[in-house]
Amino acid sequence: TQCASQDFDFFYFVQSWPGSYCDTKRGCCFPSTGKPRADFGIHGLWPNYKDGSYPSSCDRDSLYDPSMLSDLKWDLQKNWPTLACPSGNGDAFWGHEWNKHGTCSESCLNQHDYFASALKLKRKINLLRILANSGKIYDLAHEQRIQPSEQASISRSFSAIYILLLIRMVLKCVCAGIKPDGRFYSLNRIKKAIREATGFIPGIQCNVDGDGNSQLYEIYICVDVNGSELIRCPVLPRQRCKSTVEFPYFGAIGENSST
Ligand code: 5GP
Ligand code: 5GP
Ligand code: 5GP
Repeated sequence: TQCASQDFDFFYFVQSWPGSYCDTKRGCCFPSTGKPRADFGIHGLWPNYKDGSYPSSCDRDSLYDPSMLSDLKWDLQKNWPTLACPSGNGDAFWGHEWNKHGTCSESCLNQHDYFASALKLKRKINLLRILANSGKIYDLAHEQRIQPSEQASISRSFSAIYILLLIRMVLKCVCAGIKPDGRFYSLNRIKKAIREATGFIPGIQCNVDGDGNSQLYEIYICVDVNGSELIRCPVLPRQRCKSTVEFPYFGAIGENSST
């Protein structure tokens, strides 16, 4: 690998759902640059050990330097928004992540490449799309390793395979995707959707809204020490989710909802 001298075993790439971050007693503040999109945002890229422990704040001399990230600024604002109060432009959050986590993988990724790697992973793993598409015929076809050329001919001619897939879909009772619509979804279904799309079981963390509901908060995906390839998680974070979890709104419809 590029970084033979690394002192950690893998990364957790962690994305959080803004609706769940905001929908707690503590609330949130939108960034000074504007309200984030209704999409998962990056929380961090965290070096970790196989036993579940992790190093932190590894190099107090390596200061966060926003001038190294000027080419990524727009991308960071869009995909790694800060929601803590008071409102900020992001540097406090990114600086915290660099100091606490990024400095522990410095032998593999310098400051620019650390942030660039996280942004690249975000582009590769579109959680909102993965969840929304779960249970669709396309995914069942995908699961059965039907080639794109076959898929095309299947959709043209109403073939036997297509009917079998339909029957299978009905039998499995998976009829709609997982969307941030304020409804409750089975945690296993969420995990399965991500496993089918990425190949690996993710870690999931929940938090609690004002009414005490367990809600989908963070998704942990494991990545190799180069910060590029997804891997099977050596260890998953201790889970605090109920077996069904709310996927709250974060958008125009849910803006003023109190639940
Ligand atoms: P919380 O207690 O809210 O889950 O985590 C607080 C902070 O501790 C996280 O934002 C992160 O910085 C760090 N942290 C929590 N769990 C893990 C973990 O499993 N691995 C790493 N590397 N950091 C973690
Ligand atoms: P971690 O949880 O990674 O240790 O710490 C996150 C730190 O960054 C917290 O101190 C929090 O106040 C700050 N922060 C700034 N913006 C955000 C945000 O949008 N989400 C989270 N989880 N923390 C943020
Ligand atoms: P940080 O210390 O390390 O201040 O935050 C600790 C935890 O509290 C983080 O895991 C973060 O998710 C959460 N947190 C920090 N600031 C805020 C905030 O302004 N609003 C909400 N809802 N959570 C926050």
